[in-house]
Amino acid sequence: MKLTVRIWQTALFSLVALAAMLPFYFMLLPSYRQNATALVNSRVERELDYLSRVVPTDKGKITDGKNIEVEADRFTQAFQVDLWVYDAKKKLILSRTNLTKPGNILDQAVARGITNRSFIHTDLDTGLVLAARPLVSDGKVAGILVISEDDDSIRVAVGSVQRQLNTIFITALVIATLIGFVFSEAIRRQMQKLRRGAFTIAQGNFNLRLKVGMVPDEMAELVKTFNVMASKLGEAFATLRDQQRQILRVINAMGEGLIEVGADGLINLVNPEAARVMGKPAEDLIGNRIEDLPEHKHLVKDIKEALKGKESTSVYRHEERVILVHGTTIKEPGDKKVKGGVLILRDFTRQYELEQAQRDFITNASHQLRTPVSALKGYTELLMGSAGDDPKTKEKFLKSIEIEVNHMERLIEKLFTLARLDSHAEIVAIGKHSVAEITQEVLAITFPLAEAGKVSLDVDLETIPAQEVICDRDRIVEVLAGFVENAIKYTPGGGSVTVFSKPDGERIRIGAMDNGVGIPPGEIDKIFDRFYRYDPREKKKKGAGLGLSIAKEIIEAHGSKIEVSSIPEKGSTFWFTLKAAA
Ligand code: ADP
Repeated sequence: MKLTVRIWQTALFSLVALAAMLPFYFMLLPSYRQNATALVNSRVERELDYLSRVVPTDKGKITDGKNIEVEADRFTQAFQVDLWVYDAKKKLILSRTNLTKPGNILDQAVARGITNRSFIHTDLDTGLVLAARPLVSDGKVAGILVISEDDDSIRVAVGSVQRQLNTIFITALVIATLIGFVFSEAIRRQMQKLRRGAFTIAQGNFNLRLKVGMVPDEMAELVKTFNVMASKLGEAFATLRDQQRQILRVINAMGEGLIEVGADGLINLVNPEAARVMGKPAEDLIGNRIEDLPEHKHLVKDIKEALKGKESTSVYRHEERVILVHGTTIKEPGDKKVKGGVLILRDFTRQYELEQAQRDFITNASHQLRTPVSALKGYTELLMGSAGDDPKTKEKFLKSIEIEVNHMERLIEKLFTLARLDSHAEIVAIGKHSVAEITQEVLAITFPLAEAGKVSLDVDLETIPAQEVICDRDRIVEVLAGFVENAIKYTPGGGSVTVFSKPDGERIRIGAMDNGVGIPPGEIDKIFDRFYRYDPREKKKKGAGLGLSIAKEIIEAHGSKIEVSSIPEKGSTFWFTLKAAA
């Protein structure tokens, strides 16, 4: 059972009242009885004094019996007492009894009197007062006087005092109990108020303020302190909540994925980037174990390490993505116990692809450069040897050296262009330029190649002669010339290549069409890759596989894209569109 404040406080008040009153009760009543007894005794003593004077004795004996009778009658009637007179041999010589019934107390009194001692018995509760006195003559006990009375008034007085005291005692106890109850009820109410307040605060409502009581006591101070505590707690929690929100905002805005796992291995937190990398909404991950996600096996190893208190870093592939995982442990400073683990996931795919492309680029570029360099080395060695003596051979070798050097120069130029496009340093110089002029220039550049390849080169302009397009002229010439050069290269002798332009909605379509070898459908996606070359005739053509990848970057920098349509053995068409000048 719960011992409430009300019960123990009330009991305490009652106990205090009881403890205060008990000594009072037990001292006052006996003292009153003592005084009453003393009063009665002194009266009885006086009566005996009188009697012993009127009962004559001589030589150790009671004399003059008749006179005693008269005095006894007078005395018992006047004082309303019973009287016994015994001689020295305890023989009753006179008695007047009709008021009291002393019983064996009378015998005790006589027995005392015979030994020359007085006796007095006062019973306040029954009102019986019995006293005996020896009558002494010539140093001997001559007889014994005994008087007995039923003192009703003393019995009534003592009873009434006792009753009054009892009433006072009980009333005081009831009042003390009531006061105790009222006080304890007041305290209980205050405490209940505090208890409810504390409960409200525990539920997170810090706006609660308790009413301070009227009495400026410790309880009022406690309520005031409680209110201060509530307001301070509210402020502290608001700050905490703000900080929590701020941390969550940062976590959610992080470019890295973050997964927090508790010491029990359950996922507690997944930020949006982690959910993206894992390919599942955060809600589907929170509350699960990483072990239950079979598609992310790598994470199991990393989180296990983290929960063991070790750091780990690993890279794994998940659905075309390369993910870098870093696992760390959550620990309180100075505490060895692991509270959980955190995994930071970084989508490494783009960087990985870039690094891979860079590695491929360096390998391909060195490979492309190695061929002309070893050719040059060979020719130089031959020239320095006996071949240098023959002017004809010398000239042939020098010609070959010139071709290789030109080829290297073009290759280096292309690599340089690519590098500049990659670093975004190559910004196109936009202006209005005539379509006719661009195509003319392309024709002028590519004509010798067409002639050498015995391929006819035509122009088909469906646009008006004055049509202008918005572009970087030199770059567009470079791209279109590349198209035409490729077309000539991949068109057997007797074939034809046509440079064309025609309106395409708001834009102008410009391109080159040939009736050459064409490109197999499976190759079309790859021809724009750097260093990609495909030659169906397997003839040695001096291409580095960079032309189309550069062209693609230039056209994309114009906000457009290169399109291809090709049928093997029938020919190919490469084109792009440019914004028409108004
Ligand atoms: P290259 O400098 O070797 O010509 P490109 O990037 O210009 O490299 O071309 C890449 C590949 O695209 C070529 O190896 C070739 O297989 C294909 N190609 C380009 N244009 C044509 C075309 N007009 N006809 C057939 N194949 C072509």
